[in-house]
Amino acid sequence: MSLQSTSETAGPVVSLHNVTKTFSNATVALKDMSLSIRQGEFVSLLGPSGCGKSTALRIVAGLSSPSAGRLVWPGERPGESDHDISFVFQEPTLMPWATVFANVHLPLKLKGESARAARPRVMEALEMVGLEGFAESYPRELSGGMKMRVSIARALVTKPKLLLMDEPFAALDEITRFRLNNDLLRLWEEFGWTVVFVTHSVFESVYLSNRIVIMAARPGRVVADLAVDAPYPRGEEFRTSHLYSDHCRLASDALQAAMGDEAANT
Ligand code: ADP
Repeated sequence: MSLQSTSETAGPVVSLHNVTKTFSNATVALKDMSLSIRQGEFVSLLGPSGCGKSTALRIVAGLSSPSAGRLVWPGERPGESDHDISFVFQEPTLMPWATVFANVHLPLKLKGESARAARPRVMEALEMVGLEGFAESYPRELSGGMKMRVSIARALVTKPKLLLMDEPFAALDEITRFRLNNDLLRLWEEFGWTVVFVTHSVFESVYLSNRIVIMAARPGRVVADLAVDAPYPRGEEFRTSHLYSDHCRLASDALQAAMGDEAANT
């Protein structure tokens, strides 16, 4: 692992410039955070609970605004506010009364597309996550992993350029998580999105990403920016390789160092 990112030549999709977020209760969730996400990267934001990972992701998504600093979208035209983003939350957040098809159709429906017109795209998104046979099922009929797949299909149906994922697999059992990790990597490689993935798992961040941004708390900030120089496609061989364990050790050391600093600040 080096301090250089692998996709340094690609331009940034979005940049945070000295972003600070102070909540009304005076919690400084982020302090002076600067970060550029480049086209095609799979970036993990890794850090202990409370270090501001979700806050940073929500600011990129436009769900929260910085108290100071700026968010810049280099490719955007003046006045443009639709950034081609999708967000996947830790909970699948499906509508329980609606079918899988209706849940995945929702973002297109909100843009005024009828179910009939949207059908090919909804079915394509369901195929991507292996659920084309479950379009007429209801969420209660699905396992936890399947519900998360529906949530991912709903995020993909708009063909976003930037996919923001906030600990999407944290609530799943390990076997399901590994399977979804593999499916996500396959889709990322095939479609060339840019992904920002929040996790507190060193193992998951090394397995998935080509760049790990390590954060520390009190105040939330970036403390290390590591490239994972391991080739894709990655599979079980990578998970059991020396290369993988070496990268995990490096990320873990950087995280421990960050948490040591944090303890010193408390
Ligand atoms: P992480 O995702 O790394 O666990 P968060 O971004 O959720 O961290 O939170 C960072 C800090 O901001 C935490 O101390 C959290 O308690 C605080 N925080 C998050 N959201 C709010 C809010 N709406 N109001 C007040 N404090 C908040």
